[in-house]
Amino acid sequence: MALSIFKCIYCNKEYDIQEIRYRCECGDLLEVIHDLSQSIPNPNDWKKSLDGQMADIAFRRYQAVLFPSLPEDKLITLFEGDTPLYDVTHSIPRFKSIKLKHEGLNPTLSFKDRGMVAGVSWANHLGCENVICASTGDTSAAMAAYAAAAPNMKGIVLLPKGKISPEQLAQSISFGALTIGIETDFDGCMNLVQELTQKHKIYLLNSMNPVRIEGQKAIGIETLHQLNWQVPDWFVIPVGNAGNISALGKGLRELYELGIIDKLPRLAGIQTEGASPLFESFKNGYTKLVPQKAKPTKASAIQIGDPVSYKKAIRELKHFDGVVEAVSEKELMDWKAQIDRLGISICPNSSVAVAGAMKLNRDGVIKENEDVVVILTAHGSKFSNTSVEYHKNSVNQFANQTHTIPPNLKNLESVLNL
Ligand SMILES: *Cc1c(COP(=O)(O)O)cnc(C)c1O
Repeated sequence: MALSIFKCIYCNKEYDIQEIRYRCECGDLLEVIHDLSQSIPNPNDWKKSLDGQMADIAFRRYQAVLFPSLPEDKLITLFEGDTPLYDVTHSIPRFKSIKLKHEGLNPTLSFKDRGMVAGVSWANHLGCENVICASTGDTSAAMAAYAAAAPNMKGIVLLPKGKISPEQLAQSISFGALTIGIETDFDGCMNLVQELTQKHKIYLLNSMNPVRIEGQKAIGIETLHQLNWQVPDWFVIPVGNAGNISALGKGLRELYELGIIDKLPRLAGIQTEGASPLFESFKNGYTKLVPQKAKPTKASAIQIGDPVSYKKAIRELKHFDGVVEAVSEKELMDWKAQIDRLGISICPNSSVAVAGAMKLNRDGVIKENEDVVVILTAHGSKFSNTSVEYHKNSVNQFANQTHTIPPNLKNLESVLNL
């Protein structure tokens, strides 16, 4: 077998990895399959060699399992990865342990950088000069940055008009991508970008491109490396287009097949109540996906009603004995405030996962004697408007008072209770 191929997840038809192709002829999703026995002939030696490589960037460190076919000199990196794994067990004493993997501490402040290092490097290898994505804000920021870092590449970004944060918009514009607001929602942008890339030679970098999924496998793999390969009972992750949960599952599955880890965790995918197609599907035993018109949510990065990677996600959820849950706007904003108070700045999408872990704990699904890892997907600073609004208007116990006073000592002393 070749070192890497594309393979249809439905009909198993195989394609050359060098071909520019996003879907199978039958219309279904492709995934990348590597012959890991070629790139990792001796898993134990490989595992040992990783320990000496902590100084190298994450993508190169794990490349043998992530995407061995990428030539070394084509790599476009902004030094993504090596994100912290915070142990917050003392502050949230509901589990044996709870740790937060903060993917918001990547170069463009979201986990999307993990996929773009693979996707843009591959575009660079293929010689693509134009790359494009539809985005809820973070994909576009990451793609724009990595395209800017590449020697000869132009980024084009389609955004649902008025539905992304000012910080995210600023990222894509300032990194030099041609940024186009479309008068529709994310799902509408996604359809348009697929039509365009079928007709024109512009390389598609949404997570429906299976190469990006390969890069995102690094999140789970790096977490396990940080845990000295001790597998937690649960990984909890927010779900929008369902690429990231698919990547998490695929990476862990491959480690298990190599014998690098000896048990599988369970997966929990969390959505908001207003954009919960995967949750609804879980409740009906994954018999079908009913696309929704996703309702506005503070978790705007996951305001997606028709997840492109649905089939990959349910395959992983079944394999990992997974569950799916949905949380309310109040739950997610209250948990955001509580994690922020620990000095860990998280975004409303990430707090969907935290709130979901708590709800699953309350319902007895995630137990007190279990080890839990929650994936935080972006940094709070990308969504500062939600924090300002929450702390200004909120009357609940988690809100912090803000004050504006005239410039005299008396007023200041009064605010400080002196
Ligand atoms: C993209 C994104 C998600 C959702 O990831 P999917 O792969 O689309 O499920 C969650 N949180 C943030 C911050 C994101 O940018």
